[in-house]
Amino acid sequence: MAAYLTPPFLETDYKLATDRANTSAAGILDRAKRLQEDPQRAERLAEQECRSCFYLARGGMVQPGFTKSDCVCCSKTMEFSTTRADRTCMPCAHEHQLCKRCGGDIEMNKDRTHYPSQTPQTA
Ligand SMILES: [Zn+2]
Ligand SMILES: [Zn+2]
Repeated sequence: MAAYLTPPFLETDYKLATDRANTSAAGILDRAKRLQEDPQRAERLAEQECRSCFYLARGGMVQPGFTKSDCVCCSKTMEFSTTRADRTCMPCAHEHQLCKRCGGDIEMNKDRTHYPSQTPQTA
């Protein structure tokens, strides 16, 4: 790793910086392309995730750990082996065509008018 902040920048440092800028830009463009073209559609639907969660939120830091959360649909308690918790359980996501991860429409359809609603909490 080059000593980044120590002047003078050598030619190799400028080139390295340029390479990094290009790699970073290419990564974003690749993700944007995948987001738009949905090349892993079957896999995505098997995971019951929307395009945003599947292509953009992926690859982030997921810490192993133990997380519990309640499904926003049916309130069933779900358990996860990472610190990342889904919003809905798989059966609810399937039944209502939701992204299990963010709880939005599985196809990110903003025109959708019907979402399942929980019965009002009494407490
Ligand atoms: Zn549920
Ligand atoms: Zn989602």
